[in-house]
Amino acid sequence: MSIGKIIDGKAFAASLRERIAQAVPVFVEQAGRKPGLAVVLVGEDPASSVYVRSKGKMTVAVGMDSFEFKRPATIGQDDLLDLIEELNQDERVDGILVQLPLPNHIDEAAVIAAIDPAKDVDGFHVVNAGRLATGQEALVPCTPMGCIMLLKDELGDLSGKEAVVIGRSNIVGKPMAQLLLAENATVTIAHSRTHDLASVVHRADIVVAAVGRPEMIKGEWIKPGATVIDVGINRVPDDEDTGKSRIVGDVATAEALAHVGAITPVPGGVGPMTIAVLLRNTLVAAHARAGLAKPD
Ligand code: NDP
Repeated sequence: MSIGKIIDGKAFAASLRERIAQAVPVFVEQAGRKPGLAVVLVGEDPASSVYVRSKGKMTVAVGMDSFEFKRPATIGQDDLLDLIEELNQDERVDGILVQLPLPNHIDEAAVIAAIDPAKDVDGFHVVNAGRLATGQEALVPCTPMGCIMLLKDELGDLSGKEAVVIGRSNIVGKPMAQLLLAENATVTIAHSRTHDLASVVHRADIVVAAVGRPEMIKGEWIKPGATVIDVGINRVPDDEDTGKSRIVGDVATAEALAHVGAITPVPGGVGPMTIAVLLRNTLVAAHARAGLAKPD
């Protein structure tokens, strides 16, 4: 029995960051300043704090300016909107990222809507979502953009391929489907109300799983030779009774390996791509704001 290939997202992300690091000095030369990314963190959620710290480190590592704004969980909505407006006006800031989730008393949609779409490096603003949906130049959500980069690297032309995206969230599933459509794939979006998910998945040449349910997609569901992108990040108790936990994806990878042509591992697949694409989006936003042509 042949075993599928493991797609090395970590290595791909490192090479993308390397390309960005090479493009930054060229931008500095042309624009007379560094690209800048502002990250807003509300509250003290440990996972969010870790993400923000690593985003800051990687931003600096590629030669960009990193600005961090930490605010207490008790911040009022108006104060947060004032901060966003300040960052919209700040010439040094090309990208604004508000770390989600926000505390319950804050209207997340209102905060995202307040970000200047030209600085919306998460690609969550309705203007960018609408541009993506209508085939216009847009800042595209980082995780699905990372998935499409891995898919194109693995498969080349995606034209005419049967793609099934499982999950329809605004941050992963829907933009993923739009990106696959833009690459001329034939796209099905599955979700919690989909009947007979196994047979829907079985017809796909490309499976993108963005559900948030540990190892839900079984190996035998996969069409032989299909390419599988596992977006899921799920913490489960360790097999041994150690009291520790480990991270698994939405796909039962060990059994899927006997069926797939290629698959992204969890961790080490899609995850590392997200921050690399965030840096890429910041570079793209910086070029657009400086009136320069989009970088390669
Ligand atoms: P959401 O919870 O917003 O969406 C989950 C989607 O899965 C929904 O559309 C839901 O359907 C669907 N779903 C739930 N149960 C089933 C089921 N039994 N069968 C079919 N579909 C189902 O999650 P996100 O899109 O935000 O994230 C998905 C996963 O990706 C998570 O594990 C998350 O941690 C991970 N993630 C990883 C990132 C990274 O690698 N950097 C970034 C973002 C997310 P319905 O709409 O009908 O409820």
